[in-house]
Amino acid sequence: MAIGLIVPAAGRGERLGAGVPKALLPLAGQPLLVHAVRGALSSRVVDVVVVAAPADRVDEVRGLLAGEATELRVVRGGADRRESVARALAELPPEVDTVLVHDAARCLTPPAVFAAVAAALAGGAAAVVPAVPVADTVKRVADGVVVGTPDRDTLRAVQTPQGFRRDVLEQAHATEPGAATDDAGLVERLGYQVSVVGGHEEAFKITRSLDLVLAEAILGRRARAGAP
Ligand code: C5P
Repeated sequence: MAIGLIVPAAGRGERLGAGVPKALLPLAGQPLLVHAVRGALSSRVVDVVVVAAPADRVDEVRGLLAGEATELRVVRGGADRRESVARALAELPPEVDTVLVHDAARCLTPPAVFAAVAAALAGGAAAVVPAVPVADTVKRVADGVVVGTPDRDTLRAVQTPQGFRRDVLEQAHATEPGAATDDAGLVERLGYQVSVVGGHEEAFKITRSLDLVLAEAILGRRARAGAP
């Protein structure tokens, strides 16, 4: 099993309002993207890395990541996340038969989550997502009124890395129309079973400025504990 890691990192990060692409925002002295790639590589399950970078930052990203991974490719990202993933998928070398797709914005995801997803794929799953229980009660709302309350025990918040057999992910991107906020959503629509493994609270997605405060605190705690 040769595993390729795709990192969509081409988002503008408008909800952060930082004025730089989110993946390049510094966190404890290193861009988010560098933290994300280091975390993935330290799981020791990844053979090849393909990053989808902001279109005008491809060379900069290549420079930032030089020396992090032996096999690294950087492509221009697309207009939305789906297009960025599709472009990276097209760059995977032929020997890769298994793909992990990991948001740069989930830059503190512990290596054990990568290992758990890879293990489920090695055990025969076609698609795997890490997930955590939902803390809030979630309601369906339309036109300013509540129209439903799904049973919270059946809900999970889904994270990345999401893992796939390469042929399944390629088929999903080639044939499923429409937008997708995650890759498993496309694969589900094709009718494949998507397995679930345990995610981690530190695999949250940096989206708003409060998330940066939390991320700095986690990195501080890891440094005090002597983590790399
Ligand atoms: O916007 P959101 O936070 O959902 O983005 C999730 C991930 O997708 C981020 O890592 C972001 O950089 C990436 N993305 C991308 N290309 C886009 C938009 C988002 O690679 N055009």
